[in-house]
Amino acid sequence: MQKNTLDLLIGNLWQVDTAKLTRLCQNAAIPLPQLRQITTLVTQAPLPETIPIKTPATALNQNVLLASTKPIKPYMTEIAISPIQPTSKLQVTNIAENMNWEQLAHKVSICENCKLCENRTQTVLERGNRNAKWMFIGEGPGEQEDLQGRPFVGASGQLLDKMIAAMKLNIENDVYIANVIKCRPPRNRNPEPEEISSCKNYLLQQINLVKPQMIITLGRYAVQTLLDTEIAVGKLRGKVHHYQDIPLIATYHPSYLLRTPSAKKDAWDDLQLAMRHYFSG
Ligand code: URA
Repeated sequence: MQKNTLDLLIGNLWQVDTAKLTRLCQNAAIPLPQLRQITTLVTQAPLPETIPIKTPATALNQNVLLASTKPIKPYMTEIAISPIQPTSKLQVTNIAENMNWEQLAHKVSICENCKLCENRTQTVLERGNRNAKWMFIGEGPGEQEDLQGRPFVGASGQLLDKMIAAMKLNIENDVYIANVIKCRPPRNRNPEPEEISSCKNYLLQQINLVKPQMIITLGRYAVQTLLDTEIAVGKLRGKVHHYQDIPLIATYHPSYLLRTPSAKKDAWDDLQLAMRHYFSG
């Protein structure tokens, strides 16, 4: 198996999965030193001891690596809460009117507030439960999302689903997923400030209607838009912020985590902080 195929494969695991790794070893597709090297990159910790596997004779009837899934840390530790000063020069659109779901969905579906409407296949509003307690907010639709009309259904969405499952949340019931912008930018370029400001009201309406008890922002655009700041995610993560009265935790975007598996450890710390805050509050 090619090294980059391997990277992708293991990079796409949220936490290293014992069964999958064992299967990979058993198929003898992956040399153990390479597996150890890549898994260590993902977990930032050496794999545990090799242990004998008790299965019938296979291609690898010998010791195989068993990776541990990292246990969730206890929920009771200190939580840093830090208010931040707005620094953004974005034009902020306040919620102009209170819409119901039907009005909002219709308005978004026919929106022509910015030039992104010219190239979209369709607008992308939401996924999940409109009554969820947890809201995850990304940046904007990519190719798959533009085709399917739902957020986070491509490669980064698969990783996001794994992150949510690792938090023991049910994707259909416990979470609501949205983006800052509702139309795919050409060639997945970054959204421009005018595009964000003309779309922002839709996101605010969504938050208003869902009334989540915890917001997780994924990547810089979501946190910078909601906190009205230009501070980098790396500086905003690790603390509990608030959007209005709702606790907000900033973490890295899943597509960044796919490119940089070593950042998964920090992202997992952020998700655990969110869980601690949610369950202690
Ligand atoms: N990235 C995002 O930020 N949102 C999506 O829906 C897909 C990829």
